[in-house]
Amino acid sequence: MSHPEPEYDVIVVGGGPAGSSTAGLLALEGHRVLLLERDKFPRYHIGESLITGVIPTLDALGLRERMADLRFQVKYGGSLLWGANQTTPWSFRFREIRDSRFEYSWQVRRAEFDALLLDRARELGVRVVEGATVRGPLTDGDRIAGVSYQFRGESDPIEARAAVVVDASGQQRWLGRHFGLVSWHEDLRNVAVWSYYAGALRYPGENEGDLLTESRSQGWLWYAPLSPTLTGIGYVTPTARLVESGLPPEQLLEKQIAESTEVSWLTAGARRVDVYRAARDWSYACSQFSGPGWVLVGDAAAFIDPLLSSGVTLAMRGALSVARAVHEALAAPEKERHIMQVYEDRYRDFLGALLELTRFFYAGAHGKDELHLRAQAIVDPQGRLPAKISFVTLLSGLVRGDESLDGGGTDSH
Ligand SMILES: Cc1cc2nc3c(=O)[nH]c(=O)nc-3n(C[C@H](O)[C@H](O)[C@H](O)COP(=O)(O)OP(=O)(O)OC[C@H]3O[C@@H](n4cnc5c(N)ncnc54)[C@H](O)[C@@H]3O)c2cc1C
Repeated sequence: MSHPEPEYDVIVVGGGPAGSSTAGLLALEGHRVLLLERDKFPRYHIGESLITGVIPTLDALGLRERMADLRFQVKYGGSLLWGANQTTPWSFRFREIRDSRFEYSWQVRRAEFDALLLDRARELGVRVVEGATVRGPLTDGDRIAGVSYQFRGESDPIEARAAVVVDASGQQRWLGRHFGLVSWHEDLRNVAVWSYYAGALRYPGENEGDLLTESRSQGWLWYAPLSPTLTGIGYVTPTARLVESGLPPEQLLEKQIAESTEVSWLTAGARRVDVYRAARDWSYACSQFSGPGWVLVGDAAAFIDPLLSSGVTLAMRGALSVARAVHEALAAPEKERHIMQVYEDRYRDFLGALLELTRFFYAGAHGKDELHLRAQAIVDPQGRLPAKISFVTLLSGLVRGDESLDGGGTDSH
């Protein structure tokens, strides 16, 4: 059966950082893009600590100046209290990377950050439809040729067709579940519980905006200054340890805060100002990132534990790369398979580096020097640069200094 010419070049499912960046970048290339988002923005989302790996995509979208208008908490690096017998935190600065052009990143309120990206996509010409839940893929032989979607409370599905469908549905993993592609990392079956606190203290000077990561015997705490007065604090532990503790997640969080070395004194005079939230943050990767007419990006492709704050960077660096791949595939459909495979290989390379360091963090009470050396073994095995530079490179989300996953950064600054 033949179908009419599709209305769109690309349909993007999901309007988080991966979806709205991908859609905006493709619209910049002149493509007709439809983005379908289940929620109405602004909406709450966890994942507030950004690393400098997001900046090339913000620049490509022309958004760096607007980030300044939103007055997010600037962070120049991170502080860690990690490893056996460590009693004082140690820190790193993003600018320690040689030739680094990115001195700082931000702790963002995701509702505003994600709305900024989605509005920008709209401004660049994307047709953005909110409150639209994508249900099934439409197929044409073995090719995905579009989607059906529904507005909340309405029973009639609407169909839309495109040459390529990008799944950026986050942990919903729309196509990953449809095709049964999701493979869990058994050693990273963690759970997170967090809330927000007013009146917690700040480190002085440039460390003020740092995300503090403090290891505990069965997990770790994050301490994220979101503004001069608001701090997000969370605890991550293996799901099995939460069950063994016999405590409800919120009690476990407060117990861990009270018994911690750093977070306890930083929060001595603080009070909780929001509800407790919890999420299963099991790590996974799909066994395939693309197929005829479809491709995955961001959490829809893979998710790594929040330890390295790499999720939004993966989503947005992934967006730069997938937008380029889709653009090339639209111009040369006969090469689609090859182009998407190259995209996937490079994405997996980046994921693999982050996953290896994450596992090393969890594997024992490694201290600062061991963590630096392990990062060097991943990023710079010949040891050309001091080991700490490799560590900062990985924690900036800039493996080997590349800016898109395929190394062809588009930054013009
Ligand atoms: C506890 C925890 C802490 C984290 N901390 C950090 C951190 O500090 N820094 C960091 O960078 N990352 C962090 N992350 C990871 C980060 O939240 C994600 O990696 C990031 O949001 C991924 O972006 P995305 O665009 O792929 O997915 P999302 O941001 O989840 O966006 C997906 C969008 O798709 C929409 N959608 C889903 N299904 C459908 C459908 N069927 N139809 C239409 N729309 C749909 C959703 O409504 C959503 O808006 C953390 C994650 C967890 C669990």
